[in-house]
Amino acid sequence: MVNENSSHIVILGAGISGLTLAWSLKRRFGNRIRMTILEKGNRTGGSIHTHHQDGFLFEYGPRSCRPSGTGLETLKLIEALKLEEEVIAESPLAKKRYLWKNQKLHPFPSSFFSFFTSPLTRTTIWPIVREFLKPKALSCDESISSFFSRRFSSEIAKTLLDPLVSGIYAGDIDQLSIRSCFPLLYQWEQTYGSVGKGLLFSPKKRKNLTDFQEKMQKTSLFSFQKGMETLPKVLSGYLNSELKLNHLVAALEFSQKKIKIHLHNQPMIEADYLFSTLPSYALAKLITHPELAKQLNSIPHTPIAVVNLGWHQPVLSHQGFGFLIPSSEKEQILGIVWDSSVFPSQNAHPSQTRLTVMIGGAHFCPHLFNTLDTSLFNSIAIKALKKYLNILQPPDTSVVKVIPQAIPQYLVGHHQKVETIQNIVSQMRSPFQIIGSSFFGVSLNDCIAQSVQIAESFQPSSLSICSF
Ligand SMILES: Cc1cc2nc3c(=O)[nH]c(=O)nc-3n(C[C@H](O)[C@H](O)[C@H](O)COP(=O)(O)OP(=O)(O)OC[C@H]3O[C@@H](n4cnc5c(N)ncnc54)[C@H](O)[C@@H]3O)c2cc1C
Repeated sequence: MVNENSSHIVILGAGISGLTLAWSLKRRFGNRIRMTILEKGNRTGGSIHTHHQDGFLFEYGPRSCRPSGTGLETLKLIEALKLEEEVIAESPLAKKRYLWKNQKLHPFPSSFFSFFTSPLTRTTIWPIVREFLKPKALSCDESISSFFSRRFSSEIAKTLLDPLVSGIYAGDIDQLSIRSCFPLLYQWEQTYGSVGKGLLFSPKKRKNLTDFQEKMQKTSLFSFQKGMETLPKVLSGYLNSELKLNHLVAALEFSQKKIKIHLHNQPMIEADYLFSTLPSYALAKLITHPELAKQLNSIPHTPIAVVNLGWHQPVLSHQGFGFLIPSSEKEQILGIVWDSSVFPSQNAHPSQTRLTVMIGGAHFCPHLFNTLDTSLFNSIAIKALKKYLNILQPPDTSVVKVIPQAIPQYLVGHHQKVETIQNIVSQMRSPFQIIGSSFFGVSLNDCIAQSVQIAESFQPSSLSICSF
């Protein structure tokens, strides 16, 4: 039983950041804290959304995680939730990735030898070797294209980095920050003097991995048998009594002791401590502090349309992860993921084909997203199937998900923006913390790692935590 006299901790948003934070706090403090999670929607998971239609499993949002880097926290969470058996690794065939260039699909080199022979990479060998000798620049931040052109070559930036950044951020390499989007590469230059030296000499071997964590390091991507939504669903199951769905937060009133949370069509709630995991633009709407709202609004989010397509027969003549397109090719789509080939065990039967066409991002005409016209995106996807994959057979089923503010853009100077936001919050002297994907990393892994770390370091000294 939760003691009603305990301090009240409120979390805004039940996406993966909010759920992981709530679960980690509950694990640490048990019933000694009173906690409420306010979510405007009628479901949890936020961007993570697995959709079942006509016998096909589709993902509207994220479709996989990496076990490396901050992925270790995700693996630990999976173990703590006893979900290891649900995890599926990408098919070995999905290691094959493609790039669309000069009106053709090119396999991305997957071995040492093919790196030297592939037309995509053979001209990059000399810039990569030279990078070891280039002097380190003392840069506070710069764009991804400027960093890669300076350290390697503009060709590497345009051909290899641009599509990779499209795949993660749907962003523009001339505007996105190297320091915030690829912090490891930035640090390697600062610490070791070169990216190549950082890759070779930075400590790698992780100690004390469990068997599951060790096994997962051998794969590059994973998902869950029943889709990515498995994770938020299981987390939500542990948080039933704390979760309040259909609770739209309309305004926040800060004071030094408590925070008043005004809800749409619901009574006001008071918090002794408030965590926001909302996207920056959503939080800005709730704040009356003009400078804080301005800073939050200055973090842009690019729009994405996800078109999921399914066939009951095999229609794809390739095997692999899918392909991405450099923005210099001036095509209408970002790329196509070959879902049925990446995670074949998610197919209802072996001959199913599932594909996802990604449209949008920083290079796409933003006005096309104003109408949210799903038929427009559907027709772009159908044309794309023919042009890039020579698939003429209409899909047996399709569904379009338009997300007008999908991916946060960490522009050059993003770290300073986040610092300014944190300074304003600390000057407000209110029990309030901001986290979430708009600020500290866009991947699921980053969101999970950050929420776990915040829950572990949370010092509720000024709060009344009931001790039994
Ligand atoms: C199309 C797409 C594909 C992606 N693919 C990948 C991938 O393959 N791998 C990967 O690692 N990452 C991927 N990502 C990124 C990743 O999914 C997100 O960064 C992550 O899910 C964000 O989680 P979050 O909890 O911080 O925010 P969100 O998921 O946005 O959750 C915020 C929650 O706050 C709620 N909310 C908003 N306003 C209010 C309000 N006023 N009152 C109450 N509640 C409110 C929202 O309804 C939402 O549930 C993808 C993202 C998208 C959009």
